[in-house]
Order: sequence, then structure tokens, then C-alpha cells
Amino acid sequence: MAYINMSCGQTFLSYTALRRMGQQANQPIYYPAYFETEEKTVEMLKKIYKTDNEVLIITGTGTYAIEMGLRSTFEEGEAVLVINTGIFGAVAKSILEIIGVTPVEFKVEYGKEVDIEKVRDIIKKNKNIKGLYVVHDETTTGAMQPVEELGKLCKDLDIIFAVDAISSIAGVELETDKWGIDLCFGSAQKCMNGPQGIASIAISNKVYEKIKNRKTEISSLSLDLETWRRYHEIKVKKYHQWWKTGGEEPKFTARAPHEVSLPATLVWGLQGALEDILSEGMEKRIKRHSFAGKAVRNAMDALGLERVTKDEKLVSDVVTVVRLPKGILERDFRQYMLEKYLVALGNGEIGPDNVRIGTMGISASPKYILPTISALGNSLKHFGAEVDTGKALKEAHDVLCAFEF
Ligand SMILES: *Cc1c(COP(=O)(O)O)cnc(C)c1O
Repeated sequence: MAYINMSCGQTFLSYTALRRMGQQANQPIYYPAYFETEEKTVEMLKKIYKTDNEVLIITGTGTYAIEMGLRSTFEEGEAVLVINTGIFGAVAKSILEIIGVTPVEFKVEYGKEVDIEKVRDIIKKNKNIKGLYVVHDETTTGAMQPVEELGKLCKDLDIIFAVDAISSIAGVELETDKWGIDLCFGSAQKCMNGPQGIASIAISNKVYEKIKNRKTEISSLSLDLETWRRYHEIKVKKYHQWWKTGGEEPKFTARAPHEVSLPATLVWGLQGALEDILSEGMEKRIKRHSFAGKAVRNAMDALGLERVTKDEKLVSDVVTVVRLPKGILERDFRQYMLEKYLVALGNGEIGPDNVRIGTMGISASPKYILPTISALGNSLKHFGAEVDTGKALKEAHDVLCAFEF
């Protein structure tokens, strides 16, 4: 079935990603073609993260990257201030609890902006706080947080700055180095349009310095940044060299007789996805998302649906979250949209009364936005709401016409 995937958990796969995964079929891992693919993929990721820091690709979805970063950087007895903007902020709090690091929660109302001065006061008063964690684009509410300003704060106070950029990377502006992000988490399957199951982290030297000074050993093999650093340095780069020159075999056995591997097929897929991103160009891509997001927002307003994030300064261009009219449950609504129109929306993470419209990479296009609005308007009508779908379509169309997609 040719679904229109406007969800925000996993998006359309880029055609180059699909082709690369096909090319990979039956090619062995740990031979030159794989080494080259991986090295190239890391270099492309650095361009997208806008960083000269180390970037590691890791096995697992975005959540694995977050847990790995937090588990490796912080240890028992330390605290991290978590800005809780929605479900993904709350996930970080849970991860910290699980790994024995104290979360200091700073709650922000859904769709609202964090008060930086209050955050500064809390950190100044608690010397145990060694890091600040924020979700750049809270995918469950559609609100962005001021990462650049928070980065300045962390620099002033000399603490680690960790950012969940999983849904923002490759969709909206993100400047890892300029904004002073020490740990920046991304995943392949959101705005990158890559395969699900592979994530990445940009890591500053400050993080590695902190890890060097840990009092306790990291209680994990595969969720240890150093393990993955060895993987890339030894099992890929040194093995690649060894393949060409011979000599002594590089050792890849620091904490276990065999450490970790990446899923080769997914690395090939990610490479393809990144090729598409860079051939479009980040500047154009970000602009495209801004038109797509604006078109969806205007259409939702025309349908009379309440947006969870209303402040123009905070709205995300890659996800729009709206409340459904009273009495309509998001599950029933999404089920109807899928069965009747083959349109998949994102579920309501913050309750049964809302749905999310993702405009992530490929789906940030009139080709998918216009039929989605049409289906959404008709579905509202089916559930008894009085809406003007034609007006919503016109609003979106007017915005989309101003950009060359
Ligand atoms: C999707 C998402 C996650 C979770 O990532 P998975 O790849 O599903 O593990 C975390 N944070 C944000 C902001 C997300 O959008």
C-alpha cells in the first residue's frame, strides 16, 4: 500500500537509502567497501551536525544514543538538570534515575518556553549539577527550546550541555559547535529519512575529559561511548589500514573478547539518506521545512483545531500537534484516516485528544501535505465536526506556492 507517512516516529525512507541498502545485500562487513561506507557516513554526519567534534554512529534507535551518552558521561552521586518540556524530556529524567544519576527536573508547560534565568539560579545553587539536558524540538508538543542561549549558560557555568536533537537534525537549524553542545543526539529515522535502528552522537572533548576523570567504571559494554570510539578507531579505521598495509593485527578487545558491531545494511542506508540531504543542501532543506511547517499550521488554524504550541517563536517546522474537537479520540481518528485515506498521523503522546502531523524530510512537500489536509478535513467531518476543508487547503496552498519544492 502506498501510505502517506506523516507520523513522527519513523518517516519515509529516501530512495538513495533504499538503493544503497539493496546494493549492500550480501556484501560482507569488515571489508573495504564497508570501511569506506562508514568513514564517508561519519564525514557527512559532521556536516549535518555542523561540528568538528567526534561523531559516533551507534547501533540502536535514538533512545540508545541518549542512554549511552548520559550513562558514559555522568556517574552516581552527580546530578543533571533536565528541562522537561514533554514526553521526551520526561524520558531523560527516567534514564537518569535508572542509571543512578540524580535528575533535577525543571518542568515547562507544554508548548511554552523555558525560563533561562530560573534555570541559571537552580544550577548556581546546586554544585552537584554537572550537566544540563534539553530536547531541542519536543516532538510530543511541537515546541522548540532556545538551545543557543542555553549553550551560553552552560559555558558560563562550565557544565556539560546535552541536547536531544533527534527530531530537529536535518530539518531545522542546528549548530552543534557554535551553540556549545557537548553531547548532541540524533537518529536516522526522523528528518534524515534513513533507516530505523541506527543513531549518532556528536561528542566534545569536554565530555571525554569528564569520562577520563570518572571514579567508577561505566557499567555497560555496548552503552559505553569509549567502546564505540574504539569500534570506529580500531575496528574500522585501523583495520582498513591493516587491510592495505599488513603488519600487526589491530586489537579490538579492551573490555570483552569481542566488543560491538554496527548493522552494516543500516550504515549503507544512512549513507544514502545523507547523500540525499547534502545534495539538496542544508540551507534549502531547512527553508523547505519552514514552508511545510507554516502551511500545516495555517491549515490547522483554518480548520479551527487548537495547536498545542501557539507562540510563533517556538513553533517547530517538523511537527505540528493539534487538539481534536471534544469527544473525538485520537486512536479512532487515526484509524479512520489510515483505513479510509492511507494517511498515517503521529499518535497523541500527551493524551487521547491530540494528533501530530510530521513534516520530516520527504513528507515536507506539497505532494504529501495537501492530501493530508484534505483527508484530515474530511475525517473531521466524518466525526461530526463542522469544518471548511477547502479554506484549509487554500491556506496551505498559498504558503506552499511561494517555495520551489
Ligand atoms: C523520536 C524521538 C526520540 C526517541 O527516539 P527513538 O529513535 O524512537 O528511540 C527521542 N527524542 C525525540 C525528540 C524524538 O523525536
